[in-house]
Amino acid sequence: MKKLAVLTSGGDAPGMNACIRATVRRAHNRGLFIFGVRKGYEGLIDNDFVELKSSDVSNIIQRGGTILHSARSDRFLTEEGRARAASNLKKRKVEGLVIIGGDGSFRGADALRIEYAIPVVGVPATIDNDLWGTDLTIGFDTAVNTALDAIDKVRDTAAAHDRLFIVEVMGRSAGFIALEVGVGGGAEAVLIPETETDLEGICSKVKGRISRGRTSNILVVAEGDEAGNAFEIARKIEDISGLKSRITVLGHVQRGGSPTAADRVLASKLGWAAVDALLEGAWPCMVGEINSEITRYPLADSWTKRKKLDPLLLTLSENL
Ligand code: ADP
Repeated sequence: MKKLAVLTSGGDAPGMNACIRATVRRAHNRGLFIFGVRKGYEGLIDNDFVELKSSDVSNIIQRGGTILHSARSDRFLTEEGRARAASNLKKRKVEGLVIIGGDGSFRGADALRIEYAIPVVGVPATIDNDLWGTDLTIGFDTAVNTALDAIDKVRDTAAAHDRLFIVEVMGRSAGFIALEVGVGGGAEAVLIPETETDLEGICSKVKGRISRGRTSNILVVAEGDEAGNAFEIARKIEDISGLKSRITVLGHVQRGGSPTAADRVLASKLGWAAVDALLEGAWPCMVGEINSEITRYPLADSWTKRKKLDPLLLTLSENL
C-alpha cells in the first residue's frame, strides 16, 4: 500500500481533528502518501481530494469540528454515487480508506468494500457513544463534559428557585450521554430510551423532595426518550402533579468545543491504529479501545450489535 485517503462523515464530533492528525502523521511515518477527502462521501463523489502533508495537520489537535468538513450524502446511497466514488479513488490509486464517523458511515464504507474491493477501516467518532466494539467513541467525553457544565449552571439557578428543571441532552436512540451526565450532575432522575420512564414515580419523588425543603430538582432527559422530549415531559408532569418545569435543551452546543484530553488521546490512538490495521490487511474493520487495548472488530458489528448501558450507572442514576 502506497496511497491512503481519510475522510470524516456523518455527524461531527469533537476529536475528529485529532484523529485526522494522527492518521496523517502515522501514514507519513510509514512512508505513505495520504489524501484528505472533503465533506465525507460527497467529496468522494465530487472528486474533492487534497494532499495532506504533516504540516497541514499542525495546530488542529485542540480544535473542535473537522478541517475536512463532514456531510451526509444521499447520492452515496445510490449505486451510481458509489460507482463514481470508487472510480475517483481508483483513478488516484488510493489503496486504503480511513473513515472517521458513526455506524451509518461504516455501512457506506462496507458497501464500497463489497462492491469495489476497496480496503476500508472505520474509526468510531460520534458524541452518542452508541457503537459496539469500543468502550468509548471519539467525542463522547467532550459532549458529556459540555452538558455537565450546563447542568452545574442550571443547578445554581434551580437552587435559587422552587422550580423543577428539565435538561434535554442528545441521544435519539441511546441514553449514554444522559446517563453519564445525570449521574455526574447529580440529577434526580434520568429519562432514557432504553428504560421505561415512570413519570408518576418521578413526580412523587420530586414532590417528596420539595416537601422536605429541597429546592434544587433536575431531571435529565435524552431527546429520544419514549415518554417524549423535554417539552412533552414537562406537559405530562404538570398534568400528573401540577408541578411546573423550566426547560433547557442543550442541542448542538454538545457537538462543539475543544476536545477534552481523553478525546484527544483516544482520537490519536485510533487514528494511528487505523493506518496500522490497513497496512496489516486487517480490513474491513472498526478500530476501537476496550479495557485500554486496541481492538479490531468487523465493521458490520457496529450496526448489528447493540452496546449495553453500564448496569451500575443505571443503578446509581436511580438511587443516588
Ligand atoms: P453516522 O456515520 O454519524 O452514523 P449517518 O447515519 O448520517 O451518520 O451516515 C453518514 C452517511 O453514510 C450517509 O449520509 C450515507 O451517505 C452513508 N450511508 C449510511 N448508510 C448507508 C448504507 N446503508 N449504504 C451506503 N451508504 C450509507
